[in-house]
Amino acid sequence: MRLPLSLLSLALPWLPADTPAPLLPAVAAELVTVASPAAGRGTTPPDLPRARVIGVSPLGERVPVGEPVRVTLSAPAPADRVTVTLEPDVPTRRHWESPTQLVLAPETRWRGGRAQRVTIELPDEPRVEFGFRTEVPEPRAVVPGEGKRVILTFDDGPQDRRQADRLLDVLREHEARVIFFPTGRWARQRKDWVERAVDEGHWVCNHTFSHRNLTLGLPDDLIRFEIENGAGHGTCRLFRPPLMAIDKRVERIARELGYDVFLWDIDSRDWQDTPAVDVERTVLGQVRPDAVVLLHMHAAGTMEALPSLLPRLRDAGYLLDFQPAAADGGAALELPRPAVPAD
Ligand SMILES: [Zn+2]
Repeated sequence: MRLPLSLLSLALPWLPADTPAPLLPAVAAELVTVASPAAGRGTTPPDLPRARVIGVSPLGERVPVGEPVRVTLSAPAPADRVTVTLEPDVPTRRHWESPTQLVLAPETRWRGGRAQRVTIELPDEPRVEFGFRTEVPEPRAVVPGEGKRVILTFDDGPQDRRQADRLLDVLREHEARVIFFPTGRWARQRKDWVERAVDEGHWVCNHTFSHRNLTLGLPDDLIRFEIENGAGHGTCRLFRPPLMAIDKRVERIARELGYDVFLWDIDSRDWQDTPAVDVERTVLGQVRPDAVVLLHMHAAGTMEALPSLLPRLRDAGYLLDFQPAAADGGAALELPRPAVPAD
């Protein structure tokens, strides 16, 4: 059942109640109610009208990190009967602004750029859930690059042909050279694009053939097939496992095929449909010399952020070239240490 609340924006995807927080879609901004296991556990005292949730805020995207959550009830409810659960759990101060309005203010702030989920339980009422996503605060200062490089990497491959071409245009315009990890399947369909990318000084490397999770018990042969049919096979020795799914076996097979596992230091979170300004702030807030940044070729937020992000990185003293041949005589690319989990 959905509550008929006019303040709710329905433009954003519905949040399934049982979706675990790390797998949330872009953001949940629609109020949903779910049959509560608590219903019937502690009923409302007979002298009080039954309270239900009639309003929640905030909802939607780019919510300020300090903005409190407000829950409006149809009638006063005993404070100890209103259960609010946060996911992720962020320490908050809770107070009643009026007999029907509960306010939860984060003690410091919500996690920047993350989906925040809120669940409200009242006796005899269906559970109410809603969500929002916070903005990423503007970094107070960007760590200076001091002439060192920042290694920008772009994964996957967009459905939109023109977007892939535009990405190369933007990188050329800003004289940035990056490492691409398209899927092998995508690269086969865009041989012209791969040729142009390589001509313009980028590397095109291995992200498997079809973007499968290689740690889900596939036979060795299939893992080998996925890696041998990845983009850049034989020309680039960097292998980035899809979905960051890597274990000792996948690492061993990749190594046997001549690859080094290449992960990243900074997750721009652009894979969550993050707005451009937040992609930009995430990268600027975490960048440091020689950092490897994870971006995606298909992310609209990244495409929109690049014309601003690239000059800002350069202004902060970063070299937008993953392989600064002129600066260090073409020394081999030093790989970040992969965080391969133990068996
Ligand atoms: Zn990927």
